[in-house]
Amino acid sequence: TFFSIVFGQIVATGVCHTDLYHLFESMHKDGFPAVLGHEGAGIVESVGPGVTEFKTGDKVIPLFISQCRECRFCKSPKTNQCEKGWAADRYDVMSVEDSRFTCKGKKVLQFMGTSTFSEYTVVNQMAVAKIDPAAPLNKVCLVGCGISTGYGAAVNTAKVEPGSTCAVFGLGAVGLAAVMGCKAAGAKRIIAVDINPEKAEKAKVFGATDFVNPKDHSKPISQVLSEMTDGGVDFSLECVGSVAVMRSALESCVKGWGVSVIVGWTHLEDFSARPLQLIAGRTWKGSVFGGFKSKDGVPQMVKGYLDKKVKLDEFITHNMTLAQVNDAIELMKQGKCIRTVLSVSPQ
Ligand code: NAD
Ligand code: ZN
Repeated sequence: TFFSIVFGQIVATGVCHTDLYHLFESMHKDGFPAVLGHEGAGIVESVGPGVTEFKTGDKVIPLFISQCRECRFCKSPKTNQCEKGWAADRYDVMSVEDSRFTCKGKKVLQFMGTSTFSEYTVVNQMAVAKIDPAAPLNKVCLVGCGISTGYGAAVNTAKVEPGSTCAVFGLGAVGLAAVMGCKAAGAKRIIAVDINPEKAEKAKVFGATDFVNPKDHSKPISQVLSEMTDGGVDFSLECVGSVAVMRSALESCVKGWGVSVIVGWTHLEDFSARPLQLIAGRTWKGSVFGGFKSKDGVPQMVKGYLDKKVKLDEFITHNMTLAQVNDAIELMKQGKCIRTVLSVSPQ
């Protein structure tokens, strides 16, 4: 059936660490073969019967987390965990069978319900956001994952407060967007943490006030941050995807009211921490897509960019074509890029 389906041409896509996670880290046996990519922007080519929200030529961003507006999660203001999309029960596998892709007669799965490393893709209308026609697709594609994820984790999930002290672990696009979110929320001190010293300069561009490399210290990083901040930060965000870093981020928070948010993605290991960390008044939480209800949040982030309140250009270190996708993956693997944007079809 073609009900509620939007057929779209992808114009540009970013490469996110979650693509690498699926390819090299998770390697779930039921997750392949798949077309990767989930941070794209494009143009509606045609729509199926029952589609009322979209028409040919609309500029859109496909959403890896849907917003059906009808399920109990969509109706609650507390969450963005729509019950209808692929994500409801496929977080471990990450690729969905309900795809329109085939290769030599064999089914190819759709990664995170989107598959943006492709000239065309087919998405349910509950997983598509219409955006301002003035938006440049080769920039706003980044709103489709990394930038909304990091920014929203600070603003929506941590609820960073004016005058507060924050720490962000991991300075890829997600972490740098978290730094930008902390700054937008009025944080007075933002400590950026990464084991790659080359990230220090970039972090300043987004508002970091300090940079700490855990490799420069013999003490645990949580102790270093605690000493820098008289007992710990008010808010910390883990943007790496490592259970060890998740624990460090929690332990870097001040007792009494510290809030630590897990943003990095892993489904492979359990984390651990001492119960006293939470008993002493810290809160440990996490979010997908920065807690944004996707259909509502994406056009807002695009507007923020057009109004010059949200930076996007500064994240883009490389521009390539879809044919160079393997080079782009290699750059990210080696930590040599923040975001590579692949041009997929002419705009
Ligand atoms: P990235 O690979 O570009 O950045 C990761 C950064 O972490 C790098 O700068 C790396 O040097 C740094 N790092 C590695 N080990 C570290 C350590 N021990 N301490 C401090 N820094 C360390 O990745 P990205 O695209 O920015 O994504 C970051 C994470 O967010 C990934 O786990 C990704 O899967 C996840 N993610 C989550 C969501 C979500 O909705 N929750 C969405 C998108 C991405
Ligand atoms: Zn992503």
